[in-house]
Amino acid sequence: MQFENYIRDIQGFPKEGILFKDITPLLINPEARTNCLKILLNSLKDQKIDKVVGAESRGFFFGILLAQELNAGFVPVRKPKKLPFETISASYELEYGSDSLEMHTDAIKKGDRVLIHDDVLATGGTAKAVCELVEKLGGEIVQCNFLMELSFLNGKEKIKEYPIFSALVY
Ligand code: AMP
Repeated sequence: MQFENYIRDIQGFPKEGILFKDITPLLINPEARTNCLKILLNSLKDQKIDKVVGAESRGFFFGILLAQELNAGFVPVRKPKKLPFETISASYELEYGSDSLEMHTDAIKKGDRVLIHDDVLATGGTAKAVCELVEKLGGEIVQCNFLMELSFLNGKEKIKEYPIFSALVY
């Protein structure tokens, strides 16, 4: 069971020139999902994780699965004005557009060992903003992991001070 066979390329979504990596075939298939989850977990080599932080919205899917397996808390990072409690925010640039991200102020405690997860590492703007949010609250970033890295966009450069793991590299 190779989970890469369950990533579907969609040319021109959400706009021309973008090759979108669609993970919905992976989400549908329990065996492929398990294979993918195991690869992400193996990369952590039993390091203790207190919180898994997932980036809206496709970082939530495997983020929550990782948190469950690691017996860690799950923290959603969301687009502006979606979170109901007090928030901190960080701005970022996307492969297609720019925006900011928010996290609840009580989501991370000082010294928490944090795993950051998203589906795709593209330009690295999103991951960088999530790292900033975690560090503002005193979290220690153990790893940033991704289902896929689009290496030609060089996103690793933006978060090079942290350990990075991508299950697939394109
Ligand atoms: P970036 O901030 O440029 O690293 O972009 C990463 C975010 O945008 C992730 O949350 C991805 O879900 C999404 N994203 C960027 N490029 C793609 C792509 N080609 N296919 C699917 N999602 C993408």
